[in-house]
Amino acid sequence: MICKKSRKEYNYMKYKPFTRNNYNKIEQLKCLDETILSEIDVVARVLPFKTNNYVVDELIDWDNYANDPMYTITFPQKKLIARKHFDLISSLLNSSTDDSVINKAVEGIRLGLNPHPAGQLECNIPELDGNRVDGIQHKYRETMLVFPAQGQTCHAYCTFCFRWPQFTGMSDHKMALKQAELSAEYLRRHPDITDVLFSGGDPMIMNAARLEGYIDAFLNSGASNLRTIRIGTKTLSFWPYRYLTDKDSEKILELFRKVTDAGIHLSIMANINHYREMSTCAFREAVKRIRQTGAVIRSQSPVLNHVNASPAVWEKMWVDQANLGIIPYYMFVPRNTGSQRFFSIPLVRAYDIYRKAFSHVSGLARTVRGPSMSTLHGKIKIDGIPEINRKKYIAMSFIQGRSSDWVKKPFFAEYNENACWIDELKPAFGDKAFFFEEKDSGFLGMNDVNDEADILSCAIRQSDSPDYLLDYMDYSA
Ligand code: SF4
Repeated sequence: MICKKSRKEYNYMKYKPFTRNNYNKIEQLKCLDETILSEIDVVARVLPFKTNNYVVDELIDWDNYANDPMYTITFPQKKLIARKHFDLISSLLNSSTDDSVINKAVEGIRLGLNPHPAGQLECNIPELDGNRVDGIQHKYRETMLVFPAQGQTCHAYCTFCFRWPQFTGMSDHKMALKQAELSAEYLRRHPDITDVLFSGGDPMIMNAARLEGYIDAFLNSGASNLRTIRIGTKTLSFWPYRYLTDKDSEKILELFRKVTDAGIHLSIMANINHYREMSTCAFREAVKRIRQTGAVIRSQSPVLNHVNASPAVWEKMWVDQANLGIIPYYMFVPRNTGSQRFFSIPLVRAYDIYRKAFSHVSGLARTVRGPSMSTLHGKIKIDGIPEINRKKYIAMSFIQGRSSDWVKKPFFAEYNENACWIDELKPAFGDKAFFFEEKDSGFLGMNDVNDEADILSCAIRQSDSPDYLLDYMDYSA
């Protein structure tokens, strides 16, 4: 792979965000049609919008912006929300309606977009001495997710983001960790946990000193069970200068080295949706510097309609990643939240893309797993479309489950070429429910999954009812 830009071009770049409040300062937008700008204005009221000078200047192909994957994943577009919602907000804006009315309408729309899929807000919060430890999730036995309070934003927002409510000011739904020591204590008391996964937002938005504070809490906790620290981030794609020319770039790299020197495996879980993100010199230099610290970079992405829904894109992405020393790790299915209707594709198509791309890459890139749905019950992977007695089925298994006993246990659904999520599939062979639905309480306590009251209460909390939205919309229109 030849890097087309000279070393000088990434020598220094100062981060400059663009949001709904200042996007009209983006030079490239000035050449676009007025209607595109007003679409941005309307949709950015509902879904979060932030991009930056690197994405705008180095990633987006403005000559072909309408079909450009980088534009699609960063700029609000009309089709991201339902037509009726678009029309409602548009008419409220055009009629100079009071902001408080617009905000109420926006809130109603957001609540109907399933802001917390897979019960992520309510169903995975652990307790310590009878008190909820907010800012942590413990869904799988070995892994604890940590959401540092200062890491709940990103250098740019993805239009497909399943954590979009965190960026919209829906503060009731925001997860935050206030006391690093609490989570370290939780780790100490749960010897089964080996992996701490920093998540967000993007934890790499934090300055080096803050991130070090969180990491030190774990390194110094005396928890001998800690083996791996993972950091979920999109900085490599949206702001690789985090590792190049930010004023604390060197400190960040030193921190990574400190972790690996302590004998802890450091895995950077890079969100990479298209090979274009890997095409700049800044990306490649950042990868090189991170790898020099002893950290390993793994990649993950949802399969997204209008962005990467083709075997050729995934094949090139995995091949380029293997060449750069990045380990392909996950292909996800977009979650049933936010703008899913625009980005989702049927599960059987996702599987076809995965299989075709997988079969064309070398063994080193065949480390990737998918297509996988992150559900309330665990990570469910499509394994294939078997034909039994001349009838097609969808074969699946758990990569991770609330009960470790579920993992790698094959199960089957009736073939459905339109289903985009597990709840649109029916169990095969006349079964009334999938085996895990009969057992899952939806709560932590992976092996204690028999309490019917818990099943019911979790299910109720999950159903942010779209009917409520419809009632609301009728009323507010
Ligand atoms: S970087 Fe991750 S958390 Fe941030 S907007 Fe994109 S998908 Fe969401």
